[in-house]
Amino acid sequence: MKRLISILGMVCILVIISACQNDTETKIGQEALNTEESLEEKSSIDVQDDNENESTENDGTEPDDSNSNESESNDQESNNTSESDEQGTNDSNNSNETTNENDAVVVDDPTAMDVVVNKDRKLPEGYEPPDLTVPDVEFHVVAEERKYMRAESANALESLFQAASEAGHQLVGISGYRSQQTQAAVFASNVERNGREHALQYSAQPGHSEHQTGLTMDVSTASNDYALTESFGQTPAGQWVADHAHEHGFVIRYPKGKSHITGYGYEPWHLRYFGESIATEIYEAGLTVEEYYGLVE
Ligand SMILES: [Zn+2]
Repeated sequence: MKRLISILGMVCILVIISACQNDTETKIGQEALNTEESLEEKSSIDVQDDNENESTENDGTEPDDSNSNESESNDQESNNTSESDEQGTNDSNNSNETTNENDAVVVDDPTAMDVVVNKDRKLPEGYEPPDLTVPDVEFHVVAEERKYMRAESANALESLFQAASEAGHQLVGISGYRSQQTQAAVFASNVERNGREHALQYSAQPGHSEHQTGLTMDVSTASNDYALTESFGQTPAGQWVADHAHEHGFVIRYPKGKSHITGYGYEPWHLRYFGESIATEIYEAGLTVEEYYGLVE
């Protein structure tokens, strides 16, 4: 009997995983809509979430014709992408030093609003943020879990979206909280499809995703097809976000051209809450989070 139950359990898990994959694949047509999670599932690219994932997605997603006047910058972005991809490789090289992720630093206070999580710094095993809540903003998400943020950052997101709206930009929440279990499932699915070595190299390990802090939201707009793409940064809404996110406590966590520092490609959509004063300092200094906290080697 026990055996039967465990077999049934396995079947359920397999069905869920394959449903996710199917979901991802059926979205290829609307890849622009893809959120980072589908990316992760789809391509095994890196990580933390979005990152290189989206960069890669961008390669396939941003049709040249739709961005003809951006083609130059797209080219640039493609270069960035290569850089990001390389970054992935570099990271694995680096991981020869820090090697397996067991060597990563576990952050002291995962509940701190200014906690820094990256490829070298992870959340404690099984960490779940307190006070998760759903901000009262418009969403375009595939999974309910992704709507959550910690209360303080959720309030700040509401204020950001309100200000954006007043400026004529209708932001939409795409992907917020991601539990360690979700990240683990993404990682496991990657291992299943690409092998462990590949997954280790390109997929975010549970505990290393900024989304697990509950302090992050990926945003887009209907006019950007709800896409998490570099092109969002060139839209009026994306530019407004870049100029004003800090006023509401958010930082564009992975700025352009800083992948060698942050470990991730340019992500104009990935907003990380640090609180207004820190976010403003980071913005005004033009630094990455890693530089601001002196975490650059
Ligand atoms: Zn993100």
